[in-house]
Amino acid sequence: MDLDLTAAVGELTRQLVDVPSVSGGEAPLADAVEKALAALDGLQVERDGDAVVARTFLGRPSRILLAGHLDTVPLADNLPARVVGGRLYGCGTSDMKAGVAIALRLAATLPLTGAGAGALRHDVTWICYDNEEVAADRNGLRRLAERHRDWLDADLAILMEPTSGEVEAGCQGTLRAVVTLPGTRAHSARSWLGDNAIHKAGEVLRRLGEYQARTVTLDGCTYREGLSAVRIDGGVAGNVIPDLCRVTVNFRFAPDRTPQGAFAHVREVFDGFDLELTDRAGGAPPGLAAAAAFVAATGRVPVAKYGWTDVARFAELGIPALNYGPGDPNLAHTRDEYVELAAIDEGERLLRRYLTA
Ligand SMILES: [Zn+2]
Repeated sequence: MDLDLTAAVGELTRQLVDVPSVSGGEAPLADAVEKALAALDGLQVERDGDAVVARTFLGRPSRILLAGHLDTVPLADNLPARVVGGRLYGCGTSDMKAGVAIALRLAATLPLTGAGAGALRHDVTWICYDNEEVAADRNGLRRLAERHRDWLDADLAILMEPTSGEVEAGCQGTLRAVVTLPGTRAHSARSWLGDNAIHKAGEVLRRLGEYQARTVTLDGCTYREGLSAVRIDGGVAGNVIPDLCRVTVNFRFAPDRTPQGAFAHVREVFDGFDLELTDRAGGAPPGLAAAAAFVAATGRVPVAKYGWTDVARFAELGIPALNYGPGDPNLAHTRDEYVELAAIDEGERLLRRYLTA
């Protein structure tokens, strides 16, 4: 399987899309990417599992990292890719092989060696990784951070996830916790002998209903928090007063809170209740100081990222990071996923200008 990294970026996107790479099955695509990058002069190429890393070593004072995941969600009868009216349709077009295609085409067409390389203002790192669309413990970027922290060194990471060409800065953190409500079982015909655990959920839901979520503006980006019940479990049988009820809550918090601070806040909200933290992931501050030149190049006003992305992983490593990509995030994971060919062209032009201007 050979990729032509010098093909027009829309065509390169099509080539990437037509190598199926559902999470866990990225090997053929990672092989093709590694082979194509290894054939280029001026790059040191590394591989770990199905993640491929390529770096220049031009001795520039700063390093920009372009990252994208190679995997997609499961296919939905949407391969091979097809072009209809200026759009490329297919699994992974928007999320996020169009972004990966931009990065790879730049690797093949920027002057990385000889006198021409003088045009490059930064050293550049390319990262194509596996298993982003599945549980965090399989995430390829997480694995790279654990095993090869130095491969990720950079002054700014641009994650080419779909943002419709917006600069999406930072991301919110997330945590889940379970409120456990105990009770005493009894026959429901003699309900006064028991203590109904489900009834106690009323107070939990009341506090959620009255909860005033914060809106926080950082670096001009507005983050809206939310505290929501996402699950409720309880009940034994149709004639039993239940002795246990559990309410799972999800708190999406602005990146000015640490995960510890966020949990302390949720504890306060549910003061007096038994609360257990089940999982959490910190957010990422916008970090726009490091990205000023890039943001200026886009001519867009940065907006907050809702949801959690691998930007937070970079933030954890102390590397400012943002999301910027040609795809439309609303189309990610849909059967009719597509990307506008003009948007991929525009993304390539912009990044080329930024890296060389
Ligand atoms: Zn994605």
